[in-house]
Amino acid sequence: MTEKLYWEDPYLKEFSAKVVETRTLSDGRVGVLLDRTAFYPTSGGQPNDTGMMSYDGRTATVIDVSKDGDNVLHIVDSVEGMGAGDAVECRIDWERRYGHMRHHTALHIIDGIVQKRNSGRITGGQIYADRARMDFDVAGMNREMMQGIIEEAQKIVDDDHSVVSRFLTKEEAMAIPDLSRTDPGNDLLASLKSVRVIDIVGFDMQLDGGTHVASTKEVGTIVLHEYKNNGAHNKRVYITLR
Ligand SMILES: [Zn+2]
Repeated sequence: MTEKLYWEDPYLKEFSAKVVETRTLSDGRVGVLLDRTAFYPTSGGQPNDTGMMSYDGRTATVIDVSKDGDNVLHIVDSVEGMGAGDAVECRIDWERRYGHMRHHTALHIIDGIVQKRNSGRITGGQIYADRARMDFDVAGMNREMMQGIIEEAQKIVDDDHSVVSRFLTKEEAMAIPDLSRTDPGNDLLASLKSVRVIDIVGFDMQLDGGTHVASTKEVGTIVLHEYKNNGAHNKRVYITLR
């Protein structure tokens, strides 16, 4: 199992690791498994990291990162001269990752506001480095209501709550209402012995595998970028951060 450094320290930008295995995929791309990694694999609406891997005087570019069971698979442009046991020095593209962290925390804050209003829920979301998308099924939703939700979320940002991650046992997790707000999350909760949660201290706690900023103030200013009415039960919203 790959040691997940992005969970231990989401702010880690550079790390050393050892190659466990290199492989060629069926589509001809090449991949590397490491014993530990700070490269985040695409999951839970948060895109993969990108970056570089240096070894033996060479440099490989990390193009894509995905989950491979309990391991993390790094798709690179070349594994020439790389073998099991080799030491690699890695660096993640921090600007891209930090964008993901800020937008991910912003989504949790907005989700927390919607949850507390108790008139509907967020049915989907996608994080990007420079924006985030959310789909709402909320009774009576319109642009003005959305603007109001964002204003409430901004208060949480400005109050500067700490954001911490921790692991809970299944029993502890089951005892907290609304910890999971999605069907895949509920399935996960039922199947695992322990689950990871993101706690926006004093505001909201959710099941989550992503990387977040350490305090809500780092989110900055939330801007409603686009509001689309896709039907009575589906309003699509894009936010950006300043
Ligand atoms: Zn999340």
